[in-house]
Amino acid sequence: MSDDRPSRLERLATAVATSNLTLDLERRTPIDHVIALGMASRSSSVTSDMLHLYLVGSPEAWHAAKSSVMSVVLDLNAKRRWGLDERSLDKVATDSLLMHLNPTCSHCKGRGYLVQPGTPSLSHKACPHCKGDGRRPLNKKLRTQIATTLSSLERIDSLTEAAVSRILR
Ligand SMILES: [Zn+2]
Repeated sequence: MSDDRPSRLERLATAVATSNLTLDLERRTPIDHVIALGMASRSSSVTSDMLHLYLVGSPEAWHAAKSSVMSVVLDLNAKRRWGLDERSLDKVATDSLLMHLNPTCSHCKGRGYLVQPGTPSLSHKACPHCKGDGRRPLNKKLRTQIATTLSSLERIDSLTEAAVSRILR
């Protein structure tokens, strides 16, 4: 997963949010994509909740997306015998959701280095939060669990994307 590549979710959301959403029976327009996405995401509450959060961004949308991600985490916790307590499960769900929505470090905006005070140029000092990586730092203790949850979320997105392409073929 590279930093500058838009996430699948972002691509899906952009497809939904673009230009005029008018139905044209002759040509394929963004509304076709919306309809296809609606059909495809009916089978995955994670995708539709996540997409809703991405587009709406309300506290209610956050809670819905968070509980969808939590169901993924609970499933993994049981299948992989992680044996996490409630607090850790919540941390894994929250961090995975934040990371999935935006993987860049919020402190340096993904630049990896601190800005020289009073100038727009970057210093040689690595960002203390991401250590110059530019990506949102993962909780050290729960790194593996968060990474596993992220791959599950990626997989769900890619299945939805594939379903959208099949419908629009
Ligand atoms: Zn940083």
